[in-house]
Amino acid sequence: MKKTRKTLHNLVKVNQGSVGDEVTAKLPPAKRARKNAQEDDAKTVKKTRRKTGKLSVLLEMPLDVLFEIFGLLLPLDLLRLSWTSSEFRCTLMQRSARSLWIQALKHVERLPECLEDLTEPQWAFLAFYPCCHHCGAQNCQTIIWSCRMRCCNKCLKTQLVTI
Ligand SMILES: [Zn+2]
Repeated sequence: MKKTRKTLHNLVKVNQGSVGDEVTAKLPPAKRARKNAQEDDAKTVKKTRRKTGKLSVLLEMPLDVLFEIFGLLLPLDLLRLSWTSSEFRCTLMQRSARSLWIQALKHVERLPECLEDLTEPQWAFLAFYPCCHHCGAQNCQTIIWSCRMRCCNKCLKTQLVTI
């Protein structure tokens, strides 16, 4: 554990006596220490604010309300939402959330039924996530259905072999 000057300063106050006086003499002036402690506190507050965004309130909502909201999303939005945090991932990848995925897939007109060997999130990933599954290249439109993957032209040449 990293001891800050503030905690050290408090420690000295508690242990006042002959040994404590020696420690106090070695410490920098109290005003300077307090200023640094305030800066540390400010940095901690900033980090905390960054981690908890305005949408963090969503996690505290009742699950049935969340499912009502999520039911309005398109498959790619639902997929991206599941990647935002571990809580969303756990919630959206549960078996009980399957109806959400089916509902999201129904929002897309003329979309074929989900393939038997894929789950609905896998189907959404294959059908809508526009990146190459090998190199991650953006805007990849080639889907190799038999391999259940998207592949850019560069990876098509390097990763696949014609039989
Ligand atoms: Zn690629």
